[in-house]
Amino acid sequence: MKVRDNQRSRVYRSEHLAWSVYDQETMIPLTLNNCQKLTDRLVPNICVMDGRGRRKAWAGYVGCRRVIKLPKWARTKFTVCHEASHWITGIGLGHNNNFAATLLDLIRRIVGPLEAEILKQSYKECRVRFRRHK
Ligand SMILES: [Zn+2]
Repeated sequence: MKVRDNQRSRVYRSEHLAWSVYDQETMIPLTLNNCQKLTDRLVPNICVMDGRGRRKAWAGYVGCRRVIKLPKWARTKFTVCHEASHWITGIGLGHNNNFAATLLDLIRRIVGPLEAEILKQSYKECRVRFRRHK
């Protein structure tokens, strides 16, 4: 079954808005190896792969392997948290409210409370739904 990912563009817009406010240190690129180490802390058994040649970062299956592919620009704590959130909330379910809530939690834990607050305000400004379904 294909799920409509009707919040995707709003999530992307809110992320770009947050990134424009974050200090430079937050957006410093990590090595692929450090992206793997961070991923291991967030979600088990994911293989982080070189995503050069791709426009966007990606999370999904390659054969039976659980994979995150990261182009060079995407090797930041933030984008690792974004792709890990896809694995946590369900590959194929897109950028729904559970996804947005999970990403906010990971940003708070991994990047910091200030950055999480900035993302939360950006969600509101871009009308991203981020309350979990009970
Ligand atoms: Zn995504």
